[in-house]
Amino acid sequence: MSSLLSSKAPLLGSYICGDSCSPFSVPKFMNWVTTDGCRAAASLPSFKEKQQEASSNYVRLGPESKGVDVGNMAETDGYQNLFDLMKQRFLSFKNQKYIKELERFQALAEAQYPKFMVIACADSRVCPSNILGFQPGEVFMIRNIANLVPVMKNGPSECNAALEFAVTTLQVGNILVIGHSSCAGIEALMSMQEDVESRNFIKKWVANGKVAKLRTKAATSHLSFDQQCRFCEKESINQSLLNLLSYPWIEERVRKELLSLHGGYYDFSNCSFEKWTLDFKECNVNEEGSSYAIKKQEFWC
Ligand SMILES: [Zn+2]
Repeated sequence: MSSLLSSKAPLLGSYICGDSCSPFSVPKFMNWVTTDGCRAAASLPSFKEKQQEASSNYVRLGPESKGVDVGNMAETDGYQNLFDLMKQRFLSFKNQKYIKELERFQALAEAQYPKFMVIACADSRVCPSNILGFQPGEVFMIRNIANLVPVMKNGPSECNAALEFAVTTLQVGNILVIGHSSCAGIEALMSMQEDVESRNFIKKWVANGKVAKLRTKAATSHLSFDQQCRFCEKESINQSLLNLLSYPWIEERVRKELLSLHGGYYDFSNCSFEKWTLDFKECNVNEEGSSYAIKKQEFWC
């Protein structure tokens, strides 16, 4: 560990500690997240300034806060308390993760080679990194309302810009679209009136799932509105997988088996996860209408 740190230390700047620790003393540094006598020198002047600024207001992590997850934001009131908690969490991450896996994080500072592109809902309860344990560098991700992928002809969006970078530059081998239970975006899609032109940004966005809504209405007219929404939450994932094929640089890689398209569904009412893969050879995509088939379906509970 010490040889690793000494060989990599110049990349972080030279840490010079005061009376209680030797140069870059790892155990001491890990006990104290910002330390009175420590300063960062040389290649990171801005960091040096921040360290000096923080020196009068250090945070010491006690044994009870050694874990990565520190505190509960829902139980915290006030602007300063929220950011104090955020600061503690960041410093806990730095101590418990970054410093302990220094070589990996320094390699990540140079380049990223994620195997997955993930498209997930912006809902605060469904963070993929949290529920599926994605680590830094593993996934290129975009989150939007209702985890929708627009078709290419609808023009540029954050979603397809991220897709283009992930597929053509990072050359990910997998795209995973993750939906979830009780999705308010899907509920907005299912409840909006077809023929009303809306200036509401949310309605304009979820209209990207219109085909999934029509398929749902056709297949589930006998079901309640809530049941229809649950159906559409999955149908819209499959529609997004088909929409991915409208981008030629995605379709070509899928056809050449360089890229796989997957669906995922997180049900937070019972904490289960469903995963499947689009069966490209059995899919039919054309202007008149598209059909899909899936394979490798798994249910994790
Ligand atoms: Zn959602």
